[in-house]
Amino acid sequence: MKKIAVFPGSFDPITKGHLDIIERAVPIFDELIIGIGINTEKKNLFPLAQRKAWIEQVTSNFNNVKVADYQGLTVDFCKSVDAKYIIRGLRNAGDFEFERSIAQMNADLANNIETIFMVARPELSHIASTLVRDVIRNGGDVKAFLPKGIMVDIR
Ligand code: ADP
Repeated sequence: MKKIAVFPGSFDPITKGHLDIIERAVPIFDELIIGIGINTEKKNLFPLAQRKAWIEQVTSNFNNVKVADYQGLTVDFCKSVDAKYIIRGLRNAGDFEFERSIAQMNADLANNIETIFMVARPELSHIASTLVRDVIRNGGDVKAFLPKGIMVDIR
């Protein structure tokens, strides 16, 4: 059976931290689906189409990576694409506390779907989309935090 994993997130925008997790997950699974979760409560900085295009651009060299978007529960999205694994990155203890509850909740909702945590590389563990958005809003240069080739218009 094909081992399919979902890497869910907002990717607003995709950062070097996200890309590192993707590159490390690719060799482990037959297929990796980057799932852009559409959360109507969250105010995104970049439109879905832009976030999707950036992810496609930086993962175009991997033939087993797909990009999709979904609404609703991550476990329901996993079921719809036949994925048995959810990948999440852990940057710090705060991430761990938050992610542990979500993973336990997801295990209650779907006990055949396993959450797999990948620990951030130390040199990338300070990079968060939230901070990147703050820097962008305040006119700072975020090039160092984004994958090569991703240009954001900071006007
Ligand atoms: P969400 O809104 O679901 O937290 P994000 O797009 O912020 O989505 O993050 C998606 C996933 O990527 C999360 O598991 C997050 O912990 C992980 N992640 C984000 N930044 C990094 C980083 N610098 N290093 C490793 N993992 C990261």
